[in-house]
Amino acid sequence: MDVAFINSRTKTMEPYFHLKGSFKTSADATPARADIEKFIEGAKATILQKGVPAGRGSRIIGWDIKDNNISFDIESDRYLRAHDAFIRLRKPLAAVLGKGHKIGIRGAEVEEFIVKLPSEQALRQTKIPHVKSIEFSDGMLTLSLDVGEAELENKVPDRIISLIEDKIAAQGFGGKAEHWSLLWESPKKEFPVLKYGVKDPTVEAEKQGWIKRGASRGQWIHGAQMTHIFRTFEQIVLEEVIKPLGYIEMIFPKLDTWDVLKHSGHAKGVYPEIYYVSPPKTRDPAFWEEVIDYYKVTLEVPLDLIAEKIDKPTGILCYAQCPSFWPFLQGKTIADDSLPIKVFDRSGTSHRYESGGLHGMERVDEFHRIELVFIGTQEQVLTHSKEMQECYKHIFNDILDLEWRMAWVTPWFMAQEGLTGLAGQKEVGTIDFEAPLPYRGKDGEWLEFQNLSVNGDKYPKGFNVKSQSGKEVWSGCSGIGLERWASVFLAQKGLEPADWPEKFREKIGEMPKGIRFM
Ligand code: ATP
Ligand code: ZN
Ligand code: MG
Repeated sequence: MDVAFINSRTKTMEPYFHLKGSFKTSADATPARADIEKFIEGAKATILQKGVPAGRGSRIIGWDIKDNNISFDIESDRYLRAHDAFIRLRKPLAAVLGKGHKIGIRGAEVEEFIVKLPSEQALRQTKIPHVKSIEFSDGMLTLSLDVGEAELENKVPDRIISLIEDKIAAQGFGGKAEHWSLLWESPKKEFPVLKYGVKDPTVEAEKQGWIKRGASRGQWIHGAQMTHIFRTFEQIVLEEVIKPLGYIEMIFPKLDTWDVLKHSGHAKGVYPEIYYVSPPKTRDPAFWEEVIDYYKVTLEVPLDLIAEKIDKPTGILCYAQCPSFWPFLQGKTIADDSLPIKVFDRSGTSHRYESGGLHGMERVDEFHRIELVFIGTQEQVLTHSKEMQECYKHIFNDILDLEWRMAWVTPWFMAQEGLTGLAGQKEVGTIDFEAPLPYRGKDGEWLEFQNLSVNGDKYPKGFNVKSQSGKEVWSGCSGIGLERWASVFLAQKGLEPADWPEKFREKIGEMPKGIRFM
């Protein structure tokens, strides 16, 4: 094994970078050889040592001039990576050539760029843009990058390296669950539902005609009874969270564009779980006549023909609810008297392509959620999160009388980017609210029924939002899933209103009668 890979002090394997690249010059640079040599000797102790621990960083192991070409052979550790060194050399070298010799640098080329990263195993995915090959041996991944001047300038190598490092880390977790640690838990509760035998509320609600499977995957038609329960939950949230905490209502779009998803970070990983939205290629009825006629004659919808006539997806159906709000603030400086901002949305459905299999109301492809978004200084956001937790405690303890707990978990935005672990700062992260489902057995599954997150500066940064005072802007959000609340409440309390807690019965009043069938 090459000694360059081993840190002599810790004896651990280290990343290694090796780049062969050249600068194109406007004229033969041979006459400038002496000045170039002087420049390179100087650079070793100055340009290449700036911000680098002594003896570390990049080393120029070879260089040459051939006609209109000055080539470099650079190797490095992780401190000043070879490609960064190459870029660092360009400007001062151009100054030397321009001043003394009236020669300009016209471009850069990379002939070979090898990156070695320590890893315990080979990578699963080997198709990565601008990567020619990936090989694994002796605890090292060896990548050969296919990059040119534009990619160097756009920091493509850095992104390839962090992508690979993320993949190595994720594989290292080896399917380990996301981070989870208990923050608070309620006392154990008696479940009135148990006296009827353990019951799955979806099955019971279906039997009693409160809900019926919708025509689409993971979709329900909610009858009058379930709708009334949802509306009562909503009323409780209005009275106990939204009003006391001073929220204002807004209507967020429910079709999210790729642009929004790029700014929110979702473009990094959400693809397997989203519904894609494609518009028609044209609104011209003549263009669609063929489809219309085909249906009229065969009574079959011609899907292949439709596929030819629709555009690539312009975006997705609402997935996380708050991202589509942020363009309202994008590029703005918020007046201090508007902070903290507290807005909520309950204007439409969220959609996720959930993993297969039949499931009940608790995991659906189309769901209803109230989303609360809060924005302010770091202090305002952290204080607000605490206040909100108290409001929720009151609801779940005193009104719904649930057995439930709060856990500190991998932040939702990291999970949705395909990452595990915790955010860098300890105040930033997600609280999952979870409750046991008695019908899943004594130590059965606990279901996440809502969350509350402090997202740090992620969104204000992503959407370029500033504050009048110049203080860093933070944000947080909380997603209240009505299907999840119903699943948990009915799983613990059953469908018999007489068994429901007094406080909840006062709020819900008379249950409506549904439609009766003969
Ligand atoms: P899970 O781990 O159970 O899939 P999640 O981590 O994907 O949940 P989040 O992305 O945190 O959920 O979404 C916030 C809230 O949205 C959840 O707490 C839940 O109330 C609701 N929610 C998410 N996915 C669904 C779904 N498929 N069906 C119903 N509600 C959902
Ligand atoms: Zn959110
Ligand atoms: Mg999920």
